[in-house]
Amino acid sequence: MTPVFPGLPERIKDLGEIASDLWWSWHYRARDMFRRLDYPLWRLTAHNPVAMLRQISPERLEAVSHDRAFLALYDDALRALRAARASRESWWSRTHGEAATSTIAYFSAEFAMHQSLPIYAGGLGVLAGDFCKEASDLGMPFVGVGFMYPQGYFHQKVTADGWQEETYEILNWDDAPTRPTVQPDGARCIVSVPLGARTVHAAVWQVRAGKVRLFLLDTDIDENAPWDRGLSARLYGGNQEMRLQQEIVLGLGGVRALKAMGVEPVVWHLNEGHAAFVALQRMWDQIAQGASFDAALEHVRDTTVFTTHTPVPAGHDAFPFSLVETHMAGAWGGLGDYRERFMALGSHDNGMGPQFNMTALAMRTARGINAVSQLHGEVTRSMFTSLWPGTPKAQLPIKAITNGVHAGTWVAAHMGRLFDQFLGAEWRYRIDEPEFWERVLDIPDEELWKTRIAMRQDLFRFIWDRARERWTTASVSGAQAIAIGALLDPSALTIGFARRFTGYKRPDLIFRNPPRLAAILSQLRRPVQIVFAGKAHPADDGGKHHLQRIYRRASDPAFGGRVAFVDDYDLHVAQYLVHGCDVWLNNPRKPLEASGTSGMKAAINGVPHLSIGDGWWAEGFSGANGWLIDGRPAGDSHDEVDEADAESLYTLLEQQVVPSFYDRDANDVPRAWLRTVKEAIRTVMPMFTTRRMMKQYVHELYDPAIAATTRVGLGD
Ligand SMILES: *Cc1c(COP(=O)(O)O)cnc(C)c1O
Repeated sequence: MTPVFPGLPERIKDLGEIASDLWWSWHYRARDMFRRLDYPLWRLTAHNPVAMLRQISPERLEAVSHDRAFLALYDDALRALRAARASRESWWSRTHGEAATSTIAYFSAEFAMHQSLPIYAGGLGVLAGDFCKEASDLGMPFVGVGFMYPQGYFHQKVTADGWQEETYEILNWDDAPTRPTVQPDGARCIVSVPLGARTVHAAVWQVRAGKVRLFLLDTDIDENAPWDRGLSARLYGGNQEMRLQQEIVLGLGGVRALKAMGVEPVVWHLNEGHAAFVALQRMWDQIAQGASFDAALEHVRDTTVFTTHTPVPAGHDAFPFSLVETHMAGAWGGLGDYRERFMALGSHDNGMGPQFNMTALAMRTARGINAVSQLHGEVTRSMFTSLWPGTPKAQLPIKAITNGVHAGTWVAAHMGRLFDQFLGAEWRYRIDEPEFWERVLDIPDEELWKTRIAMRQDLFRFIWDRARERWTTASVSGAQAIAIGALLDPSALTIGFARRFTGYKRPDLIFRNPPRLAAILSQLRRPVQIVFAGKAHPADDGGKHHLQRIYRRASDPAFGGRVAFVDDYDLHVAQYLVHGCDVWLNNPRKPLEASGTSGMKAAINGVPHLSIGDGWWAEGFSGANGWLIDGRPAGDSHDEVDEADAESLYTLLEQQVVPSFYDRDANDVPRAWLRTVKEAIRTVMPMFTTRRMMKQYVHELYDPAIAATTRVGLGD
């Protein structure tokens, strides 16, 4: 049941099929096709082809159906999409022989596939989205399971005084690349989940992304009581009780949805603890078929993979046992005898007394466990040592697989064309080959610089359009238009900082010494500017205060209009920022950043990273591919650390970053700067993209699980 787009001319009748499969979003020829289809509409819909096809005029459709250049892109996209879905010849099939049909199910509370599907909040979702795309590229039989939040995550508005306000928009289903899931027997797929003393029903939506399918649960259906309809309305919207209920629906309902669809995964991957109830549902199924508790646990462990994502203790969901008892009451069925043992699987004391901890549950029910950077691996082993009594820390079964970003999604069209020209179109297939990327060093400086300038220009066009739009339709003040970036200078060195606004990420560290920063920004011949973006969690007043302080700086004349805050950060804004800035700043309080991925997106586009040696940068910094902020504080109080890190940041800017950017030759080309740019691309592309990452997941975590159940030999 593909969404129907009536009135498509016969010659391009499958345009709707391409628009409804998010595969288009990471294939540049398909993207070019939609851009060409109707450029003003493309921009107006924030690059949403489903919405475009619903609004486009019949005349325009008729015109492109005779446009040879358009038709060439169309034919190409359709052929490539169908080949990707079938994927008979792929890395996966070559390396997995008989086991090639083993399905991997990936459970995640959020998926950031594209801005037209607003079911993500930040980094966790971006990783999940990039993961699915890479799985499709490698030809893996992979399904994602999550939530279809009809109100998504909030939209951010900022008042004249810099205070974040949240608004929720109801998704217009007709404009989203999703459709109802239909079971093999032809019925609409709806699953039921016991919750407390009642039963909640969830409809299942389906999203296609090339070879990969996502199944998304939605409780907003007539069968449910009004209060249950809202369970899946918003991502991270409710209180703890709401969160627990969502997680029960995701875990139990997700397993049931796969069963209803006839999908029989061999590997069950839990992305973060939110999905850990999957393990309980699977154990119950085993026990119902006659297995003992221990046998069921062994089987589930053999086939479960768990990825943990944060070293911040509050980031690990933990609930009072009584709350879990209440909401699980209806789920026990005949298994009440085992209740104590099930409860014990989640028990963990994170310093505030024992609770039911979702990370502990996942760790006790998974054989393959990983953290998302090498440093995060060490921190995680320290946090959860108590789950393996008697095992030395170094031997805990927690691996580290450093995150990566999906190159097809994050490399800008301009940069992709430059690679096509100087590296050859094969770069798209050789992403994880370090030797191949040596070729970046051969790109002529002039060409690379021209490309970087074009990308920066795109960013400013985007920012100015938004400022104009806010000025015209949202009737913001002149000061607000300046805070949004109306006075930015398209040729000045531009520092980007975009991420969730929360204490440990220290968004206002760079303002620690305001006069010193003002001096850096406003040098006559070497101007510097900073563009900020990011949301604070609705319940995080501390984060909102950070945001407010930055916003006030942005409208403070002392900074000369050289500080801007772009509101409503999402995938769309992120694309422009990671492409168009010159330097990407990241200054978390070490070691609280598990990995971080926005710096990788920037680096593969020739935007070097200026960062604390935390998360991925602890292993990514080579000495020549960006800059390391390393304050070496005298003590370890927050104040001492902040002071030392700010000092290091200022010194790097004053002595290295700014001089390098403005040191130009006779043709106005910054030679030394471009050496850093090339090193950033050369070193980050092969190591910190999902191609390397996914192969590592397959070899280290999926293959052992497949081998445990299928007992077939695997190739390399
Ligand atoms: C990449 C990305 C993130 C994650 O960035 P970090 O550097 O890990 O904080 C968050 N939100 C959006 C919209 C992104 O594109």
